[in-house]
Amino acid sequence: MILCSNPKAQVDAHRKEIEAAIVGVLDSGWYILGQEVSRFEERFAAYIGVDHGIGVASGTDALTIALATCGVGLEDEVITVSHTAVATAAAIALVGAKPIFVDIKPDTFLMDTSQIEAAITPCTKAIVPVHIYGQAVEMDEILRIARAHGLRVVEDCAQAHGATYRGRRVGTFGDASCFSFYPTKNLGAIGDGGIVVTDDADLAEQLRHGREYGWVDRYVSHFRGWNSRLDEMQAAILSAKIGHLDADNDRRRGIASYYDEGLAGTDLVLPARATEAEHVFHLYVARSKRRDELLQHLREGEVGAAIHYPVPVHRQPAYRSSEAADLPETERATEEIISLPVYPELADDQVEQVVCRIRAFS
Ligand SMILES: *Cc1c(COP(=O)(O)O)cnc(C)c1O
Repeated sequence: MILCSNPKAQVDAHRKEIEAAIVGVLDSGWYILGQEVSRFEERFAAYIGVDHGIGVASGTDALTIALATCGVGLEDEVITVSHTAVATAAAIALVGAKPIFVDIKPDTFLMDTSQIEAAITPCTKAIVPVHIYGQAVEMDEILRIARAHGLRVVEDCAQAHGATYRGRRVGTFGDASCFSFYPTKNLGAIGDGGIVVTDDADLAEQLRHGREYGWVDRYVSHFRGWNSRLDEMQAAILSAKIGHLDADNDRRRGIASYYDEGLAGTDLVLPARATEAEHVFHLYVARSKRRDELLQHLREGEVGAAIHYPVPVHRQPAYRSSEAADLPETERATEEIISLPVYPELADDQVEQVVCRIRAFS
């Protein structure tokens, strides 16, 4: 069986370094917010190209705490997309705000920035662009609109570690930017983890307090915060793995090119590259008019393709009240998308096998 994603293969690829990292933490006697977390925060912030990194317990927490710290709260509206992991909307709802969904562009699946201004109301407080599948949203447009209307920008970079827009990494554009280290992400932990990055020193300090009960001095909360800490074990593992991220992203792009060539001429619509953006292929998502049949055909051929995501957020029971969402491209994408296996450890012959299996479908 060729899995659609395979975090175990990644562990096996770097097993010695990961084991050494774990043993180091076991022996240190310090398990929460210590040297390993500080070291990783610095290293990750430097990699992205920002001044501050604040490790937290998950990508969802990163978004929640970043939104709250940027002043988003009750009755505010936050403009984002429905075509995303539910976590994006969950974080907006968790701070008491309302997600307002705009549609996506059919070729790249990215937020259609031309729809943002019409969605702005007096209650709009922020925009959350999602760099879905590993490709950057047009950040020039997002920043122009945000400046013109006095909105905050919180980037959802959970699928785009290392992706760039006009030569700058995603995560350097927003007031705050959020990453997840869920095991299957381009940089994954062995458990949950996340980080908020920012260039704003005051915001960084608030985030640091916020992730631990609003403590400014230990045991004394100056505001009501969270308990959301990246632990030493995950931080040490992430430090061991971050050095491989660029090579891993290169390999993902290589697999994507192979799919592009191998699947040319089939009736699949292959993923478009946005201009000015370097894709890191967290997922390779194609479109098929006969998606469900194709999925079945692949599974019968031991190829684990998947759908990211099968139900758009505005159609999910918990978020349906985001009424009046007129999102035809989001809905059409939901019917047609299929994610093919892509991860650094996928071997050439496996990629070839996926291609042949798809070519045999007609
Ligand atoms: C994975 C993901 C998240 C949430 O991250 P967790 O670490 O699972 O909480 C948020 N947004 C997007 C787009 C994601 O893919």
